[in-house]
Amino acid sequence: MAEEEVTIDSLTTKVRSYSPEADVELLRKAYIFSREAHCSQKRIEGTPYINHPLSVADILADMEMDVATIAAGLLHDTIEDTGTTAKDIKEIFGEEIAFLVESLTKLSKIEFKTKEEAQAENFRKMLLAMSEDIRVILIKFADRLHNMRTLQFLPENKRRRIATETLEIYAPLANRLGIGWLKIEFEDLSFKILMPELYDELVRKVAKRTEEQEGYLKEVGATIEEKLREEGLHGRVSGRVKHYYGIYQKMQRQRITFDQVNDVLGLRIITDTNANCYTIMGIIHSLWTPIPGRFKDYIAMPKSNMYQSLHTSVIGPKGERVEFQIRTEEMHKIAEEGIASHWRYKEKDSVGDRDSRYISWLRELIQSQKELRDAREFLEEVKGEVIPEVVYVFTPTGEIKELPVGSTPVDFAYSIHTQVGHKCVGAKVNGRIVPLRYQMRNGDTVEIITSPTHGPSRDWLKFVVTQRAKNRIKQWIKSEETKQSIELGLKLLEVEIRRHHLKPSILKTPEMQAVAKEFSMQSFDDLLVSVGYGKVSPHQVINRFLPEKMPEEAVHREARPGKEQKGISIKGIDHILYHTAKCCFPIPGDALVGFVTRGRGVTIHRRDCPNLEQLAIDDARIVGVDWKPGNETTSTARLVVDAVDRPGVIADLSALISSVNVNISHIEANTTQDKKAHINFNLEVKDKMQLAGLMQKIAQTEGIVRVKR
Ligand code: MN
Repeated sequence: MAEEEVTIDSLTTKVRSYSPEADVELLRKAYIFSREAHCSQKRIEGTPYINHPLSVADILADMEMDVATIAAGLLHDTIEDTGTTAKDIKEIFGEEIAFLVESLTKLSKIEFKTKEEAQAENFRKMLLAMSEDIRVILIKFADRLHNMRTLQFLPENKRRRIATETLEIYAPLANRLGIGWLKIEFEDLSFKILMPELYDELVRKVAKRTEEQEGYLKEVGATIEEKLREEGLHGRVSGRVKHYYGIYQKMQRQRITFDQVNDVLGLRIITDTNANCYTIMGIIHSLWTPIPGRFKDYIAMPKSNMYQSLHTSVIGPKGERVEFQIRTEEMHKIAEEGIASHWRYKEKDSVGDRDSRYISWLRELIQSQKELRDAREFLEEVKGEVIPEVVYVFTPTGEIKELPVGSTPVDFAYSIHTQVGHKCVGAKVNGRIVPLRYQMRNGDTVEIITSPTHGPSRDWLKFVVTQRAKNRIKQWIKSEETKQSIELGLKLLEVEIRRHHLKPSILKTPEMQAVAKEFSMQSFDDLLVSVGYGKVSPHQVINRFLPEKMPEEAVHREARPGKEQKGISIKGIDHILYHTAKCCFPIPGDALVGFVTRGRGVTIHRRDCPNLEQLAIDDARIVGVDWKPGNETTSTARLVVDAVDRPGVIADLSALISSVNVNISHIEANTTQDKKAHINFNLEVKDKMQLAGLMQKIAQTEGIVRVKR
């Protein structure tokens, strides 16, 4: 719509086209009055101010409104911005037009304390004005739409504020009143301003998808048209593209990527009767396989804004999903125009059932707000009804945040800022401390408690619902693991360097960079990560710096005994960062396996540990491990003893264990209904031999059913 081309002549021509009898002289009079009133004003882009009311009137003419509405559109800013009074308007244009203009003026005249209150208060005023005459809101919509279309001339912060308000207030309201095209335009214009990069990306992707699938959809459409002709049914098939913000919302809500949105394109069939809608759907289902769960009958059960249509998705001829909407002309008009269709000039006298339903919805809303405590609650109530799949929560400063249902304070924290998310340690909702997994409810005021030393936890991934939070947490974990792997990799290499009496400085040489390249690593750090992850052994790396290949044996002998950890060596490398597994408690004498954990050193398991099988998905992370001879320290072993439950059985066992000089570090016992005692001992033993001897002695004790590790 080229809005700079609107003139009073083009406007009157347009009005005459749908209402030949219209009093266009009244429109000319309103135009001249408005032009005079605004004569000293200019729009921010430098054009005469009259262009704005003229464009607003033009939008109303596109909606085929009556002359009074269009005249009020021409005059809508005169009282607010110029010396004109309501009395002037009443004298010249009469009661009806004066009422409309005055109502519009009232809407934007109140001053508010906070932003959210301003929104709620504005909204309430709008509803009140609307309930008296729906045309007030239609003019207000046209006003907002023209402002949104010309928003690029405003400074950034103002632009964002208006776009946010449009998205939060005007779009849901247009939707609630069934004006489909307006809701879509409000949302896409706001989306473009609020998230320009995302918007541009979607525009590009949708264009690409359209190009790819256009021919295919034409083919499907042609097949149906032919079938309809055969059956003698009336039906018009047209293509349909979901609007950008709708696609964005779907991606957010279902946490999917653009490629996973499979109903970006679809077909719409408009027919003559309700019965034919169902017949056509039957034909579609007989041509292609319907996808279960995707059929929706909004004819039998209209949406709350009176939208009616059949929706279904099928697997098309090339295996692609195609979504269909099937509706009558009448349903289509309602889907596009909603309440506005009843204010079209030519239908002014026929205020039907639907209209009274819109009105009663409004009355209920206004009624219910009397019982609500404050403006905020009211807003939350209204919005909750319009878009139930999101929750609206507030920051402590009263800013509104929209998040998917099920969102937690962690989602909220990440929606504010990545660092707020990372440092989040707790949350207060309406002043009370809540768990981080708390699911926020409409109207909650959420305050995030942060600590500068805190980082996100892997557990958060189990309850966050927004993609943003998920991505940020995963990124953090990954970078943290990389950091730890670099550290471990470096440590492992340093050990290997010492073992071969090489200079630590070789780590910084160009040769080392070359070695990294040989392993097809981008950088030395990547090589360290691989060593730390157990993908590349330190020996493989350091090997390149040895004068000639020495037998492993010789290397061992030359190794300097350093500060020893307990008594485990890993494939000829000492001083490894390791810990023994808490599942199998390995002790000297057990066959061992080392498992290089991601960023947490090496865990030592018994070779027969049942957990190992699950852990060892990646063989590269398994390292050979051996006990060192002559180890004097003790290791913790776990024994599980099943005994007949008799008095003194635990005391007897404890005495027996002490008698062979073994310390008990932990004991845990419970009895079962069938009079059995299960006793777990953690014992400090020298080695497997000592433990085996002890187990034999225990097994021979009276009342012992079973002993096992
Ligand atoms: Mn205006």
